[in-house]
Amino acid sequence: MLPDDGPLATARAQLAGAVRRLGYDEGMHQMLATPRREINVAIPLRRDDGTTELFHGYRVQHNVSRGPGKGGLRYHPAVDVDEVRALAMWMTWKCAVVELPYGGAKGGVTIDPRQYSQAELERVTRRYASEIMPMIGPERDIMAPDIGTDERTMAWVMDTYSVNQGYTIPAVVTGKPLEVGGSLGRATATSRGVVHTTRAALHEAGLDLPDVRIAVQGFGKVGGPAAAMYAEAGARVEAVSDENGAVHRDGGLHMHRLREHVARAGTVVGFDGGDPITNDELLTLDVDVLVPAAVEHVLHAGNADQVKAHWVVEAANGPTTGAADRMLEDRGVIVVPDILANAGGVVVSYFEWVQAQQAYWWSEAEIEARLAERMLHAYSEVAETARREELSLRDGALLLSVHRVAEAHRIRGLYP
Ligand code: NAD
Repeated sequence: MLPDDGPLATARAQLAGAVRRLGYDEGMHQMLATPRREINVAIPLRRDDGTTELFHGYRVQHNVSRGPGKGGLRYHPAVDVDEVRALAMWMTWKCAVVELPYGGAKGGVTIDPRQYSQAELERVTRRYASEIMPMIGPERDIMAPDIGTDERTMAWVMDTYSVNQGYTIPAVVTGKPLEVGGSLGRATATSRGVVHTTRAALHEAGLDLPDVRIAVQGFGKVGGPAAAMYAEAGARVEAVSDENGAVHRDGGLHMHRLREHVARAGTVVGFDGGDPITNDELLTLDVDVLVPAAVEHVLHAGNADQVKAHWVVEAANGPTTGAADRMLEDRGVIVVPDILANAGGVVVSYFEWVQAQQAYWWSEAEIEARLAERMLHAYSEVAETARREELSLRDGALLLSVHRVAEAHRIRGLYP
């Protein structure tokens, strides 16, 4: 059970606040609050032992007024349709904040991928992709990895889609392996964007990464590289965690040794270069910057008043409940919101899609320079809006993005 309300309630409350500030009517509010299309599929899996098991999967296109749907695919036992709806709505705002020509979408399958073999996961993925096929495509809806999925999952989706269409269509997914049309820099793009926005937020206080102590919750595709990049840039990464537990060391963890340990043990737990602490303790550590990079609603009414960090940089989607958000704001904690902080992944996904459409690939240096430029531009637009309207960075980001999406609707007009 998630603390406070679920992610969909949080996402809807955020939208309601932005609509009220922007002065749109209830019709526009309802249009922006309601997913444009959603599909709910049953996925029967033939297990390696010959038995059959059934899973439920979803694909939600929240909004496609600015372009095709864009968003990740999550494999996690807690996936349900409301979580997917919330994540799809956040994707709409995220793409609008960084001015990508996309709407927002998300997919999920309620499955614990660690309990299944690679062959079983491949069958689940191909069946899921087949079931949602009428809804996806490079001009309709483009998938990417999220929790529990990776570049191999994307290769299976791309292959299933391509075989059924009769020719190779790399632009149907992003975050795929380089060998089949992936982009340089995509695997670390979300983390790199998180580091860019952290640095931009610190600069506003006259600080830089070597001046701060950081705790990172979640050591997956986003949290792992982000922790390494922070450390490389001179920050002291004093604690990291995954779902099994956390480790802490005053003065900073030795990142290279930690990553070696994780490669061996599959978890940060047991690393001898720090002391074990709990995930709850990590969130309330005496550090300057807290980076939740795991799941939703880890900061809630029950712990937000104990957060000691001055900056919370939301690498995860929706890590803060509405109640926690208000408590942090009242205490002067600066929250760099998810739709801005973790947008680096979708920015380079966009670059990957553009490259695949043109069949012309860019250098890593080019991608990194363009990513930095987009992230810093978006940060300064959000910060400027927040200052002008006397809002938090989250409300500033929502104001900008909801306005962009609502204006696309207004200008296109209503059919018929
Ligand atoms: P991942 O599956 O690679 O990693 C998730 C990490 O979080 C793992 O280390 C896992 O052990 C840990 N974790 C799970 N539950 C936890 C808990 N309760 N406490 C502490 N740690 C926990 O997933 P990811 O792709 O790194 O995604 C992490 C977050 O970032 C998600 O919210 C995702 O939606 C968001 N995100 C990901 C991308 C991307 O490009 N992968 C882009 C934007 C946003």
